[in-house]
Amino acid sequence: MKPPEGVQANYPLARLTTIRTGGPAEWFSTAGSSERLAELLAWADNEKLPVGVVGSGSNLLVADEGVRGLVLKLDGDLASMEPEGHRILCGGGARLPQAAALAARAGLTGLEFGVSIPGTVGGAVKMNANAYGGDLARVLEWVEIVRAGEVERRTPDSLGFRYRRSNLQPGEVVARASFALDPADPADVKRALADLRAQRREAQPSGIKTFGSTFKNPDDPRTNGKTAGQLLEAAGCRGLQVGGARLSEKHANFVENTGEATTADVIALMAEGRRRVREHSGVELEPEVQFLGDVNAEALYS
Ligand SMILES: Cc1cc2nc3c(=O)[nH]c(=O)nc-3n(C[C@H](O)[C@H](O)[C@H](O)COP(=O)(O)OP(=O)(O)OC[C@H]3O[C@@H](n4cnc5c(N)ncnc54)[C@H](O)[C@@H]3O)c2cc1C
Repeated sequence: MKPPEGVQANYPLARLTTIRTGGPAEWFSTAGSSERLAELLAWADNEKLPVGVVGSGSNLLVADEGVRGLVLKLDGDLASMEPEGHRILCGGGARLPQAAALAARAGLTGLEFGVSIPGTVGGAVKMNANAYGGDLARVLEWVEIVRAGEVERRTPDSLGFRYRRSNLQPGEVVARASFALDPADPADVKRALADLRAQRREAQPSGIKTFGSTFKNPDDPRTNGKTAGQLLEAAGCRGLQVGGARLSEKHANFVENTGEATTADVIALMAEGRRRVREHSGVELEPEVQFLGDVNAEALYS
């Protein structure tokens, strides 16, 4: 069957990610409405194509060889945001920092943690994103999940949230979400956002091509309370470079694309960082970054 109008073949994905690596999608399309999303998912299902979603690409490594199947990006109505009483209704493609700013203007508190997470609402749900002690599950009221031929509303207790994880399966798209927030003085919420932005500038490198945290903070007594970044730093990984990929001097858990990095460079760098931490402290770091396509991550575990 011919692809629906607007579906593009061999579409470069690197520019849709913040690290800017990886190859093209076999098929790519934006989806700006529920009807369009249903049409695209039905086509992919009919063609037996796997479906992937790109949000802001801020925690994503795309295979250099490209991605088989259909890759979607939500826009239009599925990236909109709207206050409704004490709620903020969002499309899955809405950006979290903008949703946090909208909540502040509307005099609503609870979403402040989103101000420094450069992802979309859908990506935040998939990753159970968090920062500064915020809690996505506490403010998320429901999400609308779409699969081929099916739409389902789920509440946070059925999303299997764990540290940087949910139970969303490949091919399940977060199309919409509702955040239930508490009333507050807009000036107070705006001040909180400014404070969080300042804290972030202090702690993390800015203006670099990166996907944020590379490894999860391990839950292992041998860390003695150290974060993944501190373990990498202690193992001498600050500034470590493989090809065009480097672990940041400012924050060792951030990979930086210095210009011409490939996903293979990033994986080789992660493997070396992981190996050094294992040797130095005995701790096995696990990737936080998500893979799209057949990223060859064998080196990470050898
Ligand atoms: C500078 C920087 C700072 C960061 N700080 C933080 C932080 O403080 N806390 C934190 O938790 N994270 C942080 N991150 C990581 C990242 O921003 C989050 O994981 C974010 O939630 C990812 O959202 P995204 O839209 O970019 O998702 P993507 O990176 O595009 O995708 C990530 C995963 O979500 C899936 N996905 C995306 N959209 C949808 C959808 N609509 N439906 C279903 N699945 C979807 C993708 O398929 C993929 O599996 C940071 C990243 C950077 C670059």
